[in-house]
Parts: sequence; C-alpha cells; structure tokens
Amino acid sequence: MLILPAALTKTVVFPGSILPGAGMAGAGMAAMAGLWLAMTIVVGKGWCSYLCFFGGIEEGMAAVMPRAKLKKIDVRWRYGPWAVLLAMALLSLALFDSVYCMWLCPFKAVSEYVAARNTLGMVQNGIFVVLFAGLVIALPLLTKKRTQCAFFCPFGAFQSIFNKTSVFDVKIDRTRCSPCVLCKTACPTMSLTDESIAQGETLMSCMKCGACVDVCPKDAAVWHIKGTEVASKPERARLLLLYAAWGMAIMFGGSIIAQGLATILHVFI
Ligand code: SF4
Ligand code: SF4
Repeated sequence: MLILPAALTKTVVFPGSILPGAGMAGAGMAAMAGLWLAMTIVVGKGWCSYLCFFGGIEEGMAAVMPRAKLKKIDVRWRYGPWAVLLAMALLSLALFDSVYCMWLCPFKAVSEYVAARNTLGMVQNGIFVVLFAGLVIALPLLTKKRTQCAFFCPFGAFQSIFNKTSVFDVKIDRTRCSPCVLCKTACPTMSLTDESIAQGETLMSCMKCGACVDVCPKDAAVWHIKGTEVASKPERARLLLLYAAWGMAIMFGGSIIAQGLATILHVFI
C-alpha cells in the first residue's frame, strides 16, 4: 500500500490519490487492486476480521456487555448483506453513481460527512448517523454480534465470494465435536448453524476470526488449509493465516497511520 503506489504515482494511494485529478490515478488504482486481490485470494473474507477498522468498532461495542440482551435473531437477516449488495449494484449501474457511499454507508458518520448545505445533505448525514447508531453501536451492544457486518455490509458479502478461492478456512472436526454449540453462540457473524456444525463446515459468511476455535472445549473447531486433512496441523494453518492477515493489516493500516501522523505533524509544525 505504501511502497508500490509511492513508486508508481509518487503518492500514498489510499484514499486520496485514487480520486480524479490525482495524477497517475490509474497506476495507483492498479497497485491497490493488485494488493487487494493477492491478499483476498489468500485470506478471503478474513479481510473483514483482520483489516476492517470499522468492524473493530463493532467488535469493541460487542465486548462491552457481559451477556447478550437480545438473543433471538431471525437467521434470515443473514441474507441482508447480499440484498444490499444486489440493490446497490443495480442502482449504481442505473444511476452511474456510488449510491451506497452517498446514502447508506454508516461509517460516513465517523469518517466523512457530506457537506450539509441544503436539505438533501442533512438527510444524507441523518441516515449515516441513524445507521451508525443502530448497526454499529446499539445492536452490537445488545446482541454481542458484529451486526453491520452480519446483516448489512455489501462489501463483506462481496468478500464472502473469495472464501471459495482463499487458501484457509475454519472447519469442525466431526470426530471431536460434542455438539455443544458454544461456537455458534460465539460467532460474531452467525456463520455457524446446527446443520453446518453437523456437516463440519462454516457458512460462506465466515470471516475467519477464530472466535469459534477459541471457545471450543473439545478442540473440534480448527484452522484448516484447503486440500489437507481436517485437523491435521491446525496450529500451522493458524500461524500461516495470521502472518498473511497481519502482513495485509500492516500494509493497509500503515498508509492510514502514516497519513494520520503526517496530518497531525502538519497541524502542529
Ligand atoms: S464448540 Fe466445539 S464441540 Fe461445541 S459444537 Fe462447536 S465445534 Fe462442536
Ligand atoms: S467464529 Fe468461527 S465461524 Fe464465526 S466468523 Fe469466526 S471463524 Fe468464522
């Protein structure tokens, strides 16, 4: 994220230099897309777990309460991200505009408000704040789940597709499983069901966070490298995934931290 775009475009690519008028934006975007694709092929939806700092806010909120106040959640909400993705893709295609960013992104409430110079701008900001308060604060507090990720985020749905191509996944070793379903309760994205546990699988929405691995009393939930025996060398699989995921986090987060520090220094010096 830092080295390739800097070499190609003489600038840090994320987020400023992908905007129009940033010079060699095409080369910068190609470098960014290349990094994203390489890492996505390796970790798939692990992107959401190890990289998405917005998801970190939900995770923090979910950790505040000792127990979930809202336990019964209709599992059909799981299809929410796919519905949002489809609707936004069609609308964006029809209008040739970034409809999700303009109208529905909850994280605009903590990253970039639109200019509220008229009623339209105020309505947009109102929607961002309501979605953020509901999906990122209130519902994670009540359910102890990552509700924006599990029920709404279209990018997360898109990343789920790459769980099919990624090298790693999380499996249930059926020979060890009791089944106590502690893993199902702990999963922040509702990616385990009674049926999937019985089949030894996680659902496509799994973001490879490892919460199920941590809580399993039988060591039945395991990290897995595709093409190998389930539970053959779970510790090796875990370490290999984490090196890739943290490498990606450093590349991605590093540019943001560097830009943040540069901004702070610019303000004070
Ligand atoms: S926590 Fe472990 S033993 Fe319990 S259902 Fe999940 S995989 Fe099976
Ligand atoms: S808890 Fe397990 S099944 Fe749920 S997202 Fe994390 S790794 Fe996937």
